[in-house]
Amino acid sequence: MKIGIVDVDSHNFPNLALMRLSAWHKQQGDSVEWWNGFTHYDRVYLSKVFTFTPDFVMPIHADEVITGGTGYKDYHSLPPEVEATAPDYSIYPSYPRAIGFLTRGCIRKCPWCIVPRKEGYIRPAAKWEDIRRPDSREIVFLDNNVLASDFGLEQIERMGEQKIWVDFNQGLDARLITPQTAVLLAKLHWIRFVRLSCDSNAMLPVVEQAAAYLREAGVAKSRLWAYVLVRDVADAHQRVLALRDMGITPFAQPYRDFDGGEPSEEQRKFARWVNIKAAFNSCRWEDYDEVTGRKMKHGR
Ligand code: SF4
Repeated sequence: MKIGIVDVDSHNFPNLALMRLSAWHKQQGDSVEWWNGFTHYDRVYLSKVFTFTPDFVMPIHADEVITGGTGYKDYHSLPPEVEATAPDYSIYPSYPRAIGFLTRGCIRKCPWCIVPRKEGYIRPAAKWEDIRRPDSREIVFLDNNVLASDFGLEQIERMGEQKIWVDFNQGLDARLITPQTAVLLAKLHWIRFVRLSCDSNAMLPVVEQAAAYLREAGVAKSRLWAYVLVRDVADAHQRVLALRDMGITPFAQPYRDFDGGEPSEEQRKFARWVNIKAAFNSCRWEDYDEVTGRKMKHGR
């Protein structure tokens, strides 16, 4: 079969589903390539992770077109035989790290989060050795709540003894960082940041305690970083200032509903202020808001 693949979200971060599909089809003897408009394919896969990514509108010449991913509100898993296939990293030749999940699912049901609906309760997914690439010592884990899993904690403990550099890029649940888990986390080699989540102001004391445990265990203060969900801007503003006072780098994420509803201009502007560190470190939100508002008014 001739297979075409489309990463609808663009190629900024590898699409794990497409890498598994590519590997599986190649194992079946099929040819796999990025879709191009000049070829007729037996089957084309379109994968979209984000609901806000515009759909792919180019005409597709294929006997069969299959769409999948959260961006299409498709919460199904890949077929088990595909899910069990090691990713084909050759389709993203410039990406140097392994990516994968130690666990799937979550123990919580935060109302703004799709994970409980999409993945259900937490369960083991793969050992770290099965995610690692032979040509890389770096692994980016996409787990949603790895600390809630004994299996996940066991993987973290075992990785602490290895020369492996890691990132948990979805943020760790600060409520599950105890003095014991902090010691396990401090033994890991981190690619850059230890990412926490701080989605509401009620989490501030919890994050502060978790950060203290991590520092006591030996994690450098400069590694501490936190996602800040931005729904109400005034509320998120309090949170980013409090995190900054704790020595934690905040990263603002404007809230989008499950239907891909767009954040407001104020939410977007606030996120730019937080995430562009030259702005965040040099001026207050009130001043940034006023100056950028004035520029927009005068068309500059
Ligand atoms: S803890 Fe995180 S992954 Fe779990 S439901 Fe809440 S936001 Fe989602």
